[in-house]
Formats: sequence, structure tokens, C-alpha cells
Amino acid sequence: MGGIFIALIVQKFGGSSVANAERLRNVAQIVSDTYRAGSDVVVVVSAQGDTTDDLIAKAAEIAVKPPKREMDMLLAAGEEISISLLAMAINEAGIPAVSLLGWQAGFQTDSKYGAARIKSIQTDRVHLELSRKHVVIVAGFQGLCKYDDITTLGRGGSDTSAVALAAALHADKCQIFTDVDGVYTADPRKIEGAKKLSAITYDEMLELATLGAQVLNNRSVEMAKKYRVELEVLSSLAGGKVPGTIVKEVVMEKMLVRGVTKDTDTARISVIGVSDVPGVAYQIFSKLAAKGINVDIILQSIGRNGTKDISFTVGIGHANEAKEILGKLDILTNLDVVLDTNVAKVSVVGAGMETHPGTASKMFEALYSEDINIQMIATSEIKISVLIKADAADRAVSAVHRAFFS
Ligand code: ADP
Ligand code: ASP
Ligand code: MG
Repeated sequence: MGGIFIALIVQKFGGSSVANAERLRNVAQIVSDTYRAGSDVVVVVSAQGDTTDDLIAKAAEIAVKPPKREMDMLLAAGEEISISLLAMAINEAGIPAVSLLGWQAGFQTDSKYGAARIKSIQTDRVHLELSRKHVVIVAGFQGLCKYDDITTLGRGGSDTSAVALAAALHADKCQIFTDVDGVYTADPRKIEGAKKLSAITYDEMLELATLGAQVLNNRSVEMAKKYRVELEVLSSLAGGKVPGTIVKEVVMEKMLVRGVTKDTDTARISVIGVSDVPGVAYQIFSKLAAKGINVDIILQSIGRNGTKDISFTVGIGHANEAKEILGKLDILTNLDVVLDTNVAKVSVVGAGMETHPGTASKMFEALYSEDINIQMIATSEIKISVLIKADAADRAVSAVHRAFFS
């Protein structure tokens, strides 16, 4: 006969779930219930409510471009508040809990301040606390780099902290508690008739998250897929009693479209009349890549009279820098580099479209019915994205969602 099996569960709670004393007590209740049911529990938390935004606003009062290192030092403070308060709330509920900052929990990252990547997690301290029968509360979104500086993982990074920790601890479960009770076919706060999904594949969730669905950070999904961490997204307000959405490798029921999403965090750059000779695209995109600028949809016109046009999209945060880089390229001298930030990307995602023709035409018909013009189109096996005017984005998502789900 073997010993008693004790499950290890990682539970992550987002900012709204820990926003005030009442919410913290609610989370303490969920964690206590899990602990009393006999599991080891590791909890990852975000900063309370709008704390991170408020800290960013404070920095803006002092400096236009604060040093990134100091920004990380500042932002990491948000999670320090929530972990300690939650540990107190759990202790109040009669269960021993200990809070740990990212570095105490062994999170080692690279030194890209503001967008650090987790390199490894030394789990000794967490294991030690678990062996003492403590609930371990870990600050999400932060780690330590090789210079012994605090780093942060980028907005929404606590999801990634939770999944990484679940992978490092070989946890039996990773539950992501948030303010909605699962992943929906579109943002349930904005789109009428959005439906809750019982399950979604890693690949579909990765596309949705990358294309604008905020509910999970895309890097957390990437990591979950890589280390086969099964995720459950569920509501903290329902006390963990309503089943949420499972994110996993294979979902039996293949849906033509699993979800519709929009991304307004995008900009389009166009260069008109570049020479139609080999190497132009290479010169443009290698310069952008060298600066770490990610390019998304690329469109090149056919050559006519020795020239062609090239347009592409970048994240809005990189738009000005990208434009400047192109402005300095010899091959583009005397050409207009046009930047348009008034655009949005609307996407449909679903593994089923791979085997079913007609998804694109259905999406385009829905846009046409709303008189919305498509500027660019990009497809992969499981997604179709279109670039449209930003002010039409909500209308577009509603129309496309209706076409597939009503
Ligand atoms: P947390 O603070 O818990 O990390 P977030 O605000 O980051 O929560 O993510 C949850 C939000 O994601 C929801 O309130 C919802 O408005 C939004 N959201 C966007 N798209 C979707 C979707 N397809 N399904 C569920 N929620 C979505
Ligand atoms: N507090 C951080 C943010 O607001 C991290 C997170 O919430 O996941 O982005
Ligand atoms: Mg989040």
C-alpha cells in the first residue's frame, strides 16, 4: 500500500478578486476550503484592483520616461501589499499561511525590465513551507534577475507566474480565478449573447489571448501548453463552486469558431512606392527585428511600373519607433512612411475552420452587412484576422459573433 496522496493545487487570483477586505476574505474562504479538503495549496496573487495603474500614474507625475529598473521596483510593490494582506486573511480563517515575494519563491528572470521572462524557479522555499503545512502565498508578476534586481513580467503577468509555478511544482491543478466564470465566445462584459465555453484547446486560447482576449495572458497559455499544465478559468465570486473553462491539449467537440476578439492595441505602417527589387522586405523587417519590434500582418501589393507598396501592423507601443526606423532607411529615402493608429484587429479563432471552408466568407459577410471596410486580412490554420477602423471594432465583433453564434 502506498502513502496518502496529497494533491498540490495552484490557485491564482487576479486584481479584482483581491480588490478590498471583503474580496480578500472571500479568497481566504476559497483557499481555506481547498486546504481543509486535504490539498497542499500555493496561491499566486495580483495587485489589488487598479493598484498597478495607480502606481504607473504616480511615476508619470515624476518622470516622462522613468528608468525601467525603477518602474519594476515600484510596480512590484503592488503585489507585496496583496500577498501580505491575503496571508493575514487566511491566518484569520485559522489556517497558517505565509507570503513570499517573487524572489523568495525562487523566480529567476532575465533582465529585460518591464517585460522579463522567467528563466527558472528554485522551489526549495515553497516546498519547505508546504512541508510545514503552510498555505504559500506568492507575489505574481515579479522575479529577480542576475543583477539581483527586481523585474516584472509585463501587464497581466501574474497568470504566467501561476502557470510557471504550477509547472515547476508539478502541481495537479492550476486554477485561474477571475471576475468572470470562464472563457467566453467573446468578452462577456461587452458582447451580448457571449457563451461560456466548457473547454478550449491551448492553441485556440493562445490565439484568443494574443489577439486581445484579456482573460488569460498569452505567455501563460504558451507555458501551459509547453509544460502540459491543465488550466481552469473560473470565478472567484462564485466561490469556486461553478465549473469554469478547462484549457487543455485536445477538446473533443471541434467548433468551427471558438471565439471572436478584438485588439485595439495595434497600428498600421505603410510605405508607398518602394522599388520593386529583391531585398526590400528583408531590409525593412530585419531592421525592425533587430530592435525587437514584432510585426504582425504584412501586406505587399503586386509590383507595377517598378514599384510596390508595403504595409504591416505593429503593437501600438512600438509604432513611433518603427516609423522612425523606416524613416532612416536609405532604400526608403524620399518616400512617405504613413502611420495610422486608428485601426483595430478583429479575429475569429477555432480549430474547426481548418477542415471547414466558408469561415472567412461568413466573417466577411457579417462585416459587409455592417458596411465595415477591411483594410488587411491575415489567416492561419485556426484564425482569421482583419484590420479595420478602430471605431468600428465593437460593431464588428458583435456582428461577427452574431453570425457564428446566434
Ligand atoms: P484578472 O484581474 O483576474 O487577471 P482580467 O481583467 O485580466 O482579470 O481578465 C478578465 C477579463 O477579461 C474579464 O473581466 C472580461 O471582461 C475580459 N475578457 C475578454 N475577453 C474575454 C473572453 N473571451 N472570455 C472571458 N473574459 C474575457
Ligand atoms: N498587477 C499586474 C498588472 O496589473 C499583474 C497582473 O495583474 O497580472 O498587470
Ligand atoms: Mg489578468
